[in-house]
Amino acid sequence: GSVKIRVKDTNLYYGNHHALKNINMDIYDKSVTALIGPSGCGKSTFLRCLNRMNDLIPNVRIDGEIQIAGNDINKYDVILLRKKVGMVFQKPNPFPMSIYENIAYGPRIHGTKNRSKLDNIVEKSLREAALWDEVKDRLKSNAMGLSGGQQQRLCIARTIAVEPEILLMDEPTSALDPASTMKIEDLMENLKKQYTVIIVTHNMQQAGRISDYAAFFLNGEIIEYDKTEKIFYKP
Ligand code: ADP
Ligand code: ADP
Repeated sequence: GSVKIRVKDTNLYYGNHHALKNINMDIYDKSVTALIGPSGCGKSTFLRCLNRMNDLIPNVRIDGEIQIAGNDINKYDVILLRKKVGMVFQKPNPFPMSIYENIAYGPRIHGTKNRSKLDNIVEKSLREAALWDEVKDRLKSNAMGLSGGQQQRLCIARTIAVEPEILLMDEPTSALDPASTMKIEDLMENLKKQYTVIIVTHNMQQAGRISDYAAFFLNGEIIEYDKTEKIFYKP
């Protein structure tokens, strides 16, 4: 794919703690990029730079420039930036409302009011997250009644319902059992056909299985970044 995100000379400080050190990185469209490395090395901080979630934290200073499709992210309206750059968190966090409303909420906020259009978005998003068959007969049930793995796939569906271009995933499977983890890993092949996917994972085997590129973080720096097949042995 082409370069979707360009990170240039980026440093981030929490107060005087230098958490990201001179990051330069091109991230490619229609691919999965894994961010790996030990706990505390800056992976989540880096991910939060891409949708400006660090702006919410007091005493953060960021320098350098981050571009999406050539445009400085600081020039976007932050609401539109976060629509374009969706995020899925480690712990599934559905809204305590119906399955249907979890998905319809975002599109409605962004201006889709028509009921049959919303119905279509709900079905399409749930299909893309491989959850449709399991929930189509209970769309009005509360999402909190789903299993953890189903909740996480619902969160993925909710994120893609607003038609993002980039999907950020911060350890999306580390709270899940192996079977649920496998279902989410299986989704990646389809998600990357449509989106730029960036996933933080502690699981090296997972990075080897699902990513096209891998960046190894250590102490706030990227010490290695290459095609996954060059970093990991792939049979
Ligand atoms: P460097 O490796 O470039 O010296 P560090 O990130 O190790 O930078 O530390 C920079 C400064 O931030 C040091 O003064 C350190 O004591 C402080 N520091 C390190 N970790 C934290 C933290 N988690 N919270 C607040 N300050 C920290
Ligand atoms: P990782 O995702 O690789 O585990 P993080 O990005 O969460 O690492 O953290 C990188 C460093 O920044 C750690 O030293 C962490 O303690 C520090 N850090 C993270 N968030 C904050 C914050 N809100 N305030 C101060 N320091 C933080």
